[in-house]
Amino acid sequence: MSLTNAFAGSLFVVAAPSGAGKSTLVNALLAQEPAIKLSISTTTRAPRPGETHGKEYWFTTAEDFVARAEAGEFLEWAEVHGNYYGTSRIMVEQQMKTGTDILLEIDWQGARQVKKQFPQATGIFILPPSIDALEERLKKRATDEPHVITRRLLAAGGEIAHAPEFEYAIINEEFAIALSELTAIVRAARCRFAQQAARNASLFAQLGIHAE
Ligand code: GDP
Ligand code: ADP
Ligand code: 5GP
Repeated sequence: MSLTNAFAGSLFVVAAPSGAGKSTLVNALLAQEPAIKLSISTTTRAPRPGETHGKEYWFTTAEDFVARAEAGEFLEWAEVHGNYYGTSRIMVEQQMKTGTDILLEIDWQGARQVKKQFPQATGIFILPPSIDALEERLKKRATDEPHVITRRLLAAGGEIAHAPEFEYAIINEEFAIALSELTAIVRAARCRFAQQAARNASLFAQLGIHAE
């Protein structure tokens, strides 16, 4: 068994254009699957009304972010919509070693970096039912200034162009259906042989099952 498969926890990477419903879907998944931990990213974006430091993000300055990126603290980082976003390396690696499943909500650039380091990570891309729906959802969410919404809509095509790099695609039209599909993907990934073997090492040994 390869070293990367030795992590008992599964790693999920979820990406989407802004407004596709990624955070709403992920929050609903986590509410029903409490064993999965969401990695809290560090960002230089300003908090939206209602966002709390340490809950949605660790908010910081560009200077601090760059210093930490140079120190190698991030498993991946990227500039998205004019701000920096990064995933804590220590958090992900420590939790996965202890068997905790981790979910990353990151952009395609970050997903690529993660896939290089963890080829067994499960990549899931959330698609909107149309570009019009994206615009409607971003406007209805009402968390961003009009110019920020415009910037995000302009970036949507570029993000969607990278959807084929992910193993799974979910079309978030009917929320309940999209959530059941996300749940199915997560449950299937947890039943992969290597994940079951790592999580249930003593049972597999008792049953005489040995990794190839
Ligand atoms: P959202 O699009 O409404 O979720 O707005 P956010 O400002 O929360 O996120 C903007 C983009 O940055 C989205 O594409 C996120 O997936 C991405 N993002 C968030 N955290 C990270 C991270 O740690 N790393 C990378 N590479 N991208 C991130
Ligand atoms: P993202 O994290 O991808 O930017 P959000 O999860 O914030 O997107 O969702 C954007 C908006 O769309 C939110 O106001 C959310 O309530 C709404 N939304 C999410 N899924 C659906 C859906 N299937 N149908 C209609 N609205 C949705
Ligand atoms: P504090 O002094 O509040 O504990 O943390 C200082 C800074 O470190 C915070 O602004 C936050 O950005 C960052 N930080 C603390 N814990 C974590 C973590 O687990 N992951 C990441 N990525 N940043 C963290």
